[in-house]
Amino acid sequence: MLRLLIQGECISSLELTINKNDPSIDASIDASILVVGNKQFITSFLKRTCYIRSSTVEVSLEVDDVIQLIKTRQPAILILQATQVASLQLCRQIKKQKLLGWIYCILINDLPEIAITTKGLDPNWELRECAQALENGADAYLRISSIRNQDSAIAVAEHRLLKAQIEAGLRGVRLYREAMHTNDFLSRIALVDPLTELSNRRAMEWELRQQVEHAFSQSTPLSLIILDVDYFKSINDNYGHPVGDRALKLLASRLKHNLRIQDSLFRYGGEEFVIILSHTEVEEARAVANRVRHTISDQPFHIDRRLVLRITISLGVASLKHTDDHRGESLLRCADQNLRIAKSNGRNRVYCCCNH
Ligand code: GH3
Ligand code: MG
Ligand code: MG
Repeated sequence: MLRLLIQGECISSLELTINKNDPSIDASIDASILVVGNKQFITSFLKRTCYIRSSTVEVSLEVDDVIQLIKTRQPAILILQATQVASLQLCRQIKKQKLLGWIYCILINDLPEIAITTKGLDPNWELRECAQALENGADAYLRISSIRNQDSAIAVAEHRLLKAQIEAGLRGVRLYREAMHTNDFLSRIALVDPLTELSNRRAMEWELRQQVEHAFSQSTPLSLIILDVDYFKSINDNYGHPVGDRALKLLASRLKHNLRIQDSLFRYGGEEFVIILSHTEVEEARAVANRVRHTISDQPFHIDRRLVLRITISLGVASLKHTDDHRGESLLRCADQNLRIAKSNGRNRVYCCCNH
């Protein structure tokens, strides 16, 4: 069990005792640091790290509570007192978790020299401790005695080492966070259509597979609509490509705002869109498709102040059958065939074949 804490008033009184002659004070660091250890450890740590502007010192509790705290706070650096039995366990647990493993863990052994002599520890003791810390997932291991004259040469050297170690950890965490940002950004670009800002075909294929798997495993109904703008080429031919683009944007936005909460809309490509309707039987899907058709045909599109266009769409509807594949390909193919039939039947209509 890890114990203890520090209350807010202790922190402020400690700040008053900071050694202002410490050379490391000039360059302050902004960092979220969580310190876990006993009272003496935290007190001595605070004295040494007055250059950190936003360190968070927390009451340390049971391992599970500390993990919970780490999940909520997501500190860049975790400083653990090596002599607490639970510290190694904490390190191991954090590094095992994909979402927390990036946190930089520094284990600090604060045993004073006198304690080492008294305990009769052999000369290799420290090497073994360090190896054990790293083996358990620590990123760094330092030995910094908590009872030392803060002005002594060795204390100043220790301050410098601790600060350098914190900065090294922050560099790694910063790089990790930047990489995650870039990753998020690229994922968004990869899955979003830039013109309409709807999810694109790649996103649709991924989502469809998930939904089909889910529908088969839970025995729930699933339907799909493919819709295509009628005679869209003539808009481009008559008014130019930018007007075609504007019409597609307005149409996508109108579709998006007229769907039910469980429906997901994608730009499949060109002037074709797909709607996945989870938990939806074929007759309900047909009704949704007809409502969507009216949403587009009943109100004209105001492209700009002078140009108003009437647009219609044709829609093919299909529902998942037990003979369909688990990737959603046959479901999509069936909806597409129905769309072709809707087109050949005269456009501005829904076709839904229900021969399961
Ligand atoms: P149908 O009723 O048979 O669907 O006729 P259509 O004219 O809509 O179909 P067609 O396949 O002949 O033409 C589709 C047009 O959509 C051709 C293509 O240039 C245009 N298009 C596809 N993507 C875009 C886009 O992002 N912007 C613009 N402006 N046009 C696009
Ligand atoms: Mg078309
Ligand atoms: Mg088309």
